[in-house]
Amino acid sequence: MASRPGILTDWPWKPLGSYKVSWESLPPLSSSRSFLFSLSESIRRVIHFRANNHVILVPWIIKNAYSFMVKGGKDLSSFLILPILLWRGLHNQLWISFSRYRTAKGKNRIIDKGIEFDQVDRESSWDDQILFSGILMYVASDTIPGASHLPMWRLDGVILTALIHMGPVEFLYYWLHRLLHHHYLYSRYHSHHHSSIVTEPITSVIHPFAEHISYFTLFAIPMITTILTGTASAASIAGYLTYIDVMNNMGHCNFEFIPQWLFTISPPLKYLMYTASFHSLHHTQFRTNYSLFMPVYDYIYGTMDTSSDTLYENSLTRPEEAPDVVHLTHLTTPDSVYHLRLGLASMASTPQKSKWYLWLMWPLTMWTMMLAWTYGRTFVVERNRFHKLRLQTWTIPKYNIQYNLQWQNVSINALIEEAVLEAEEKGVKVISLGLLNQANASPFNCNTLYGELYVQKYPRLKTKVVDGSSLAVAAVLNSIPQATTQVLHRGNLSKVASAVVLNLCQRGIQVAVPSEDDYKKLKKSFGIRSDRNNLILSKSYSIKTWLVGDGLKEEDQKKAAEGTLFIPFSQFPPKKLRKDCFYHSIPAMAAPASLENVDSCENWLPRRVMSAWRVAGIVHALEGWDEHECGYTMSDIDKVWQASIQHGFKPLAITTHSKF
Ligand SMILES: [Zn+2]
Ligand SMILES: [Zn+2]
Repeated sequence: MASRPGILTDWPWKPLGSYKVSWESLPPLSSSRSFLFSLSESIRRVIHFRANNHVILVPWIIKNAYSFMVKGGKDLSSFLILPILLWRGLHNQLWISFSRYRTAKGKNRIIDKGIEFDQVDRESSWDDQILFSGILMYVASDTIPGASHLPMWRLDGVILTALIHMGPVEFLYYWLHRLLHHHYLYSRYHSHHHSSIVTEPITSVIHPFAEHISYFTLFAIPMITTILTGTASAASIAGYLTYIDVMNNMGHCNFEFIPQWLFTISPPLKYLMYTASFHSLHHTQFRTNYSLFMPVYDYIYGTMDTSSDTLYENSLTRPEEAPDVVHLTHLTTPDSVYHLRLGLASMASTPQKSKWYLWLMWPLTMWTMMLAWTYGRTFVVERNRFHKLRLQTWTIPKYNIQYNLQWQNVSINALIEEAVLEAEEKGVKVISLGLLNQANASPFNCNTLYGELYVQKYPRLKTKVVDGSSLAVAAVLNSIPQATTQVLHRGNLSKVASAVVLNLCQRGIQVAVPSEDDYKKLKKSFGIRSDRNNLILSKSYSIKTWLVGDGLKEEDQKKAAEGTLFIPFSQFPPKKLRKDCFYHSIPAMAAPASLENVDSCENWLPRRVMSAWRVAGIVHALEGWDEHECGYTMSDIDKVWQASIQHGFKPLAITTHSKF
C-alpha cells in the first residue's frame, strides 16, 4: 500500500470482496447436516466463488459467444477476447513459476535478497488488471466504430502499433514515470509498486487503480489508432498485449537471461530493449532507469544508471547457488502442485488444506502429473537463508500414493540416492529427509530405511544424512501438557513413536498401547529396565491425551472421550474428525525472525512454522555435528532440542482450542 493512499487507489470491484477473504468467511460445511443442506450450501459456494470480481465479464462472454455461434454474426475478434484474457492469466502464471524456480536455483539471479509473506499478500491480486483489460476490450468492441469484426492479421496495423509504441507511448511513459516519482504522487500512488525491492514477475502489475488507468490510456493509443485507421487486427491487439506482458514480466523476473550476443550482433538493440537487471536497478536505486521497455529515453535525458552494464554482465555469469543444507521432500497429493512454491503463489502462502473446488482444475492437475512423470527429476522449490547458511528445499516428483506402491520403490530409491549424491557433489553439509523419504522408518521391521541405505552404500559420504527423528521426538515430548500422567498410543509404531514411548515411560508417564503386537515389541526393546512397567496394554478410550500417527483409524478417533488432546508424532496430520477435541500440530517449531526468504508454507503448517525434520537438518549444520542420524541411529534428544532453542527456533504453544 502507498504510504499516503490517494483517490482511486483500490480497484472498483473491491467491495465485492476477493475470493480469498469471502471464501474463508463462509461457515464450514458439516458432515452432520442433511445431504440437501450440504448440496445447497455447495451450490451457494460455487456461485459465491464465481460471483467475485470476474463475474463482471460474464454478460459480455455470453453475448459474444451467442452472437458468434448462434446469431451468425461471426464476429470472431470479439469472441477471441476471452481466450486472450485466459492466455494472459496463463502466461503470467508461467512467468511466476519459472522465475521462482530460477531464483531458487540461483543461477543468473540479480538480487540476492529474500521475499517475505507481506510481498506475496500485496501481490496476490495480480489478475485484477487482466479483468480490467477485459472490461476495456469488451466496452471498446461494443462502442468504438470499427472495433468489432476485426480481421485476424494485417501487416500495416502491426507496423503502426510498433511505431506508435516506440514513439509516443515510450516517451509519454518515461515522463509520466518521472512525475510519479515526485513525492506528492510517489507517496500517494507509485510507492506501492516500489514496496517490492526484490521483484517477482508479477510485481510489474502491482499498482494502485489510478496508475493502471494511466497505463491503460497509454497502451490504448496504438490500439485505438489502428482501430480508427482501419488497420487493426486480432493479431495486432493480442500481439501487443502479449508484448507488454512479456516485457513487464521479464523486467521484474530477478534473473538475467537475455544473451550478450544479441546486443553484440545488433548494438542499437540496447536502446530498444531493456533487461531484467536494467529495471532491477530502478527498484534498488529509485532515481535511475525510468524507461518503460526501451532504455532510449534514459540515454537521452541522462537518467541511465551507470552500473546497468556491469550488473547485467555480473548477473549473466552468476553461478548456481551451492546450498549448505538441503531438505528433501516430495509431492503429496495431485493437488499439492498448486500449494507448491512454484505453483500458485497465494495458495502456497497459506497452509495446505484439501479444497474440493480444486477438483474443478482436474484437467490441469492431470497435466502436471504427466509433467512430473515425464520430467522425473528432483527439482529445487525454495531457498532460504539463515545467517551464513544457505538452505534449499528439493522436491522428488513422486506422490504419496507412489510411496505406498511396492513397484515404485526402486525408482524412489534411485531418486533419493541421486539427490544424496548431488548434495555430496555440491558440498552440502546436511541433507534432511522429509515426509515419506524416510520410508516410515521403524526399528521393528525390515523395511528399507532409506537414509541408512545410502550411508551404508557410501561410507565416505561427507554430507550428513539426517532424518530429524530426535528433534521430532523432542517436539512431541514438549507438546505433552505438564500434569499428564497417562497417554494412549495410536498409529503405526514408527522410529519416532517408539522413542517417544520409551522417553515417556522414563519420565514416569504411563503409556497405554492397544495392540498386543506393539506392546510385546516395545516391552522387549525395554529389556529389564525398571520403568518398563509404565508401559501397559490397554484399549481404553478414556485417556485424554493421545499420541497419534499414520495408521490411526477413524473409528478409534470417533470413540475418543470429549476434550481429548491429539498429539501427532507423524509427518502427516490426522484428519480432524472431532469438533469437541483438540488437535496439536505435527512435530514442528516456529522459525526465528532471522531466517530469511520464507514466503510459502511447508505443506499444512502455518506461516513461518517448520517441521521438526526440516529444523533438525538446519540445526545439525549450524552445530557442525559429525554424525548421520538415520536408520537405527538417533541423536541425543536433549542436545538437539537445546541447540534448536539456542538458535532461535521456538516450540509451538500447546493447543487449547479445537479448530477445523
Ligand atoms: Zn518507479
Ligand atoms: Zn517495476
